Amino acid sequence: MADAEKCFDKLWLKDCLVDMKEEGLRDKEVALIYELNKKANIVIETPAGKTKEIKVSDIVKQGTVFGPQLCCINTSKVNEINEKNITVITPKIKIEALVYVDDIIGIGSKENIEIVGRNLAEMEKRKKYTFNNGNGKSHYMMIKTGVEPEEEVGIKVEKGKIEKTVEYKYLGNWINEKGTVERQVKEIRSKIKGMALEAKRIGHEKKTGNMSTDVIISIYEKTIIPAILYNFEVWTNWRKKDWEEMEKVQAEALKIMFDLPISTPYWGMLAEFGIWTMRKRVMYKKMSLYHNIINSKGNRLSKQVIEEQIRTKVENGWYKEVERDGEEIEIDVTKVKEYTKEQWKNMIKEKINKMMEKESKEKRQKMKKLAGQRQQKHERQMYTIGRSRKEVTNLLKTKIQMWDIGGNLGAKRKCYACEMEETENHIMNCKKVKEIITRNIEIDILSIKTNVEEKTKFFIEYINMREKQEKKKTI
Ligand SMILES: [Zn+2]
Repeated sequence: MADAEKCFDKLWLKDCLVDMKEEGLRDKEVALIYELNKKANIVIETPAGKTKEIKVSDIVKQGTVFGPQLCCINTSKVNEINEKNITVITPKIKIEALVYVDDIIGIGSKENIEIVGRNLAEMEKRKKYTFNNGNGKSHYMMIKTGVEPEEEVGIKVEKGKIEKTVEYKYLGNWINEKGTVERQVKEIRSKIKGMALEAKRIGHEKKTGNMSTDVIISIYEKTIIPAILYNFEVWTNWRKKDWEEMEKVQAEALKIMFDLPISTPYWGMLAEFGIWTMRKRVMYKKMSLYHNIINSKGNRLSKQVIEEQIRTKVENGWYKEVERDGEEIEIDVTKVKEYTKEQWKNMIKEKINKMMEKESKEKRQKMKKLAGQRQQKHERQMYTIGRSRKEVTNLLKTKIQMWDIGGNLGAKRKCYACEMEETENHIMNCKKVKEIITRNIEIDILSIKTNVEEKTKFFIEYINMREKQEKKKTI
């Protein structure tokens, strides 16, 4: 993996244009791109304010439409500049170093990597590049096979030797020498708390009132989830504990955003909000990508790889995981070409919802706390829509028995009004409690057993009373 120092600043405009011409761009277009990049006025922000305008010429402007192309066409010369470097993936697929704008990665044997290294050095000599060799910059990594002994790779650039690393952040994903997703998952776990707190802050009921639940869920689904699941659909080698960690990430986010106790059952939240597990979310993304790759025109590398994996029936590979997921949600992945994108996505959604319903039902049968959930369909429950976050949290606490009542949390405490043990069942039937509560608030005592809203009011009042009682005791 090579890190080009200030890549865009060092690109040599005319050299990039020559490369473009060689790749078949017409003179007129080359001239046009030259015009667009010929002159620029730059202003530099310094601690003492902005500088005057400075005129510069012949630069590759970053952030323009043609910027990435100009850069790519030049960086990809790493495959031509010196020695040929070809890694054979399968007899049909041979790859060179992969280039993504200013990111260069060589994949293959020790010998292959050393060729890439020598080519990088040549890029420095002939194309004005500088490759950083500092920590986290350019490195090589050995994927552990457990069979072959490790060898040292010798690469030198102008700044010195390129060192080995055990993990590397490449295009936003952490890869490691074990070839697992572990490091990436760890990264997400360390970030989720901050993200969830921010969503809660933006969507707080003090600011957004009855829209707060919708605002928070929108932020979560449309910004947090895509950010944390970015690229996960391409990973293989997931271990059970990686998935468990990912579910913990989602559980933590929901508890923070809705101020729910730490012991709140995960499946209780999933069922009320109609949310999928992380495993299912990634499954859906993987199935969508699979449809996209198989049905795409042309000869993109990923398509060639997948078709090779299908043809050679490899035992471990991305396609094999698609096949396994397909079996799990009961679809025939070999029929993917018969569906349009929309049809395919809708079918996957439906199948996953069915699975969620089934698993949810199993959890309800196992967990006493979830006995209050009766929904058949896995979808966001009506009471959570168009309502403030606080109200939703309270109703949810009633439904999944998360109120701070002794029995609910497995603690032994006495009823507020009598000597009996404080269980949900007792306080709901305790005559003394009822008497006090009806004196304090307006409540339909007859319907509290069947009506979640009335029951919630009852619990809130009970908790308030108990808190006052406890305060008095401490005074
Ligand atoms: Zn009582």
